Amino acid sequence: MTRVFNFSAGPAALPEPVLRQAAEEMLDWHGAGCGVMEMSHRGKEFMSIVEQAEADLRELMAIPQNYRVLFLQGGATQQFAQIPMNLLACGSADYLVTGAWSKKAFKEAERLARPLGGAVRLVGSTESEGFARALRADELALDPQASYVHLCTNETIHGVEVGDDGLPGSLAPLVADMSSHILSRPTDVSRYGLIYAGAQKNIGPSGLVIVIVRDDLLGRASVLTPTVMDYKVMADNGSMLNTPPTYGIYVAGLVFRWLKAQGGLAAMEKRNIEKATLLYDFIDGSGFYRNTVEVGSRSRMNIPFLLRDDALNETFLAGAKAAGLTQLKGHKSVGGMRASIYNAMPIEGVRALVDYMREFAAQHG
Ligand code: PLP
Repeated sequence: MTRVFNFSAGPAALPEPVLRQAAEEMLDWHGAGCGVMEMSHRGKEFMSIVEQAEADLRELMAIPQNYRVLFLQGGATQQFAQIPMNLLACGSADYLVTGAWSKKAFKEAERLARPLGGAVRLVGSTESEGFARALRADELALDPQASYVHLCTNETIHGVEVGDDGLPGSLAPLVADMSSHILSRPTDVSRYGLIYAGAQKNIGPSGLVIVIVRDDLLGRASVLTPTVMDYKVMADNGSMLNTPPTYGIYVAGLVFRWLKAQGGLAAMEKRNIEKATLLYDFIDGSGFYRNTVEVGSRSRMNIPFLLRDDALNETFLAGAKAAGLTQLKGHKSVGGMRASIYNAMPIEGVRALVDYMREFAAQHG
């Protein structure tokens, strides 16, 4: 068996020990005589899995007691609608647009605002600058009365990231799409009203989305909200109004345990800084590759880069694949390449990529 270094933006590589454990337990989980996929979600075995997963996530992210953790379905895209349905009714929400994903979230909220009797405002956008930076707090005129302020803290396609230190100051609850950098660094959950993340990048299999929501934001859903999309109903039912994505929750739980064994999020942040610095420093010094994101806004997780000549893209990708470095093609809206280096990507993978890029530049520069 040969495993490649997989730079996919998602579904993305998972830690190898997690996959091995899942494989070992596939037919018989802890003597239950069946695998997790085959268990009742209401049985004591699965209840112990979901309870442990939540406890480990709470510990990793130091989630305060007044926040609920929901294990939902529909991906992050469903949240683009679910958030306004739950939080917007008759109010107004502010949206920041710093890349393709926050733009999609804004568009969906804009579409729903009128039927929900609410309004959305675009309070800042970097689209005219090619989404090449985060927005600064001082360029935003936020409404202190807003029902919420939405932003994407890591733009997977454009490679733009903000940490807690770059958040807009607002009296309104911040709602953050953290799909592509959750668990890559410590986060002060108390700075947010709601955090959501699709699982398939830094958590586990696609199909699962995690929502961390402050208690006081529950119970505000519009009557138009389907029951299964009402955060309060889901919170009251332990995310099990209906059958939850059981296997995804189980694998997510294994990932949380793996993260704890690695030393938690501070240790992951150190590693992620090391990996990203290695790649950015090489790109910046190469004279052959370039990343066009403002230095202070660069993502540690998703690193888009362009070759000196686009005509070399296919040759670059073919050579990379032959060297065991896969999924490096950039998103079609941006072009070039993109290396996604989530928690599961070891430093060895980034070193192998840099070695390949150096060799390629020497041959074609
Ligand atoms: N938000 C971000 C930041 C993403 O990277 C993605 C996608 O991959 C999404 C939302 C959409 O996620 P999903 O495909 O789970 O709906």
